[in-house]
Amino acid sequence: MRIVEIRERSIAVSRYADPAMPSGGLTTSLVAVVTDVMREGSPVVGYGFASVGRFAQGGLIRERFAPRLLNAAPAALLDNAGTNLDPCRAWRAMMRGEKPGGHGERCVAVGTLDMAIWDAAAKIARMPLHRLLAERLGNDAPPRRVRVYAGGGYSYPQADLARLKDEIRAFVDLGFTHAKIKIGSAPLDEDLRRIDTAAAELTAPSHLAVDAMNAYGREQAPAAARELGALGLWWFEDICDPLDFDTLSEVASAYPHPIAAGEALFSLAEAKLLDRHGGLRPTQDILLFDPVHCYGLTHYIEIVSHLTAQGWPRTAFWPHGGHLFSLHVVAALGVGGAEINPLGFKPFRGLASGMEIADGFVSLPDAPGIGFELHDEAWQAFAQT
Ligand code: MG
Repeated sequence: MRIVEIRERSIAVSRYADPAMPSGGLTTSLVAVVTDVMREGSPVVGYGFASVGRFAQGGLIRERFAPRLLNAAPAALLDNAGTNLDPCRAWRAMMRGEKPGGHGERCVAVGTLDMAIWDAAAKIARMPLHRLLAERLGNDAPPRRVRVYAGGGYSYPQADLARLKDEIRAFVDLGFTHAKIKIGSAPLDEDLRRIDTAAAELTAPSHLAVDAMNAYGREQAPAAARELGALGLWWFEDICDPLDFDTLSEVASAYPHPIAAGEALFSLAEAKLLDRHGGLRPTQDILLFDPVHCYGLTHYIEIVSHLTAQGWPRTAFWPHGGHLFSLHVVAALGVGGAEINPLGFKPFRGLASGMEIADGFVSLPDAPGIGFELHDEAWQAFAQT
């Protein structure tokens, strides 16, 4: 068997339920990895998408990483039996000739293709991805459902507080118990009003996380942490520049509640730096490494393995991003939970048809692969790729 074609297409995405609202020109890449394995008269195709919230990776995918997969000797991408793709071997083929460092954007390009290869491998094995992955990791009994929370709460250009209240109410009506909103782009007193508004729709402030989107500088971060520290929030995320470990560790030395970091770090090497120098506390803090940002699931597994060996509990890992892919990852790796964007980031918002959230948990899809085919908007987008 072999990969016969790889297609990439870039699309615009929006943070908001209404995609017409300006959203910083965000784009993402969709990829289709076509194999020569036939099922019911059609080739097995694996699908993947780049991060939402960053930008498409079409150039790197088309010019560098897809050609390496297509030009590799077919056996170099297969498992020992030669009957399925081996995503770890495919990953090594993509990274052939790459030098250490310079993680930048290439990690997302590789992560996008890696997602599609895992999807194809699970389909060829006729298993949902979480089962294939759990089997490979020696996890005999992955859970049937995983914890999730609702991500959103971006500032609205008009009627911000009223629309934020409606948004969090919609999350609760969908079955979410926990949510995350954005702060950091407005003066702190405005953000405190946003936090009050959102928390009032949830059981308690301890069910609300806030994400400063790396906005605070050296002076602002401790000042914001002092104000937020009294609120007892679920977690305080992306406080300062992702590599400003001085500021992060200063905040961590005084902030009494969980801090979350790691979404904008892109490799095991950077994860090690965060662990050594970020001042984070494995007893309570949260690690947001995003499998797609970090060269794909294949490399993400190495990050989880390394940090758990350093004493981090698996429950500390709540991968950023979301959508169906993260549900499989969380179940198979036995990590804390997954982010879902219920309203924003069409076509990767919400869950597939028939999937429901109850008490903050969602059951995993049973379809082979990731299950994008069950999600109307995602499938429409992939079908055109
Ligand atoms: Mg974040």
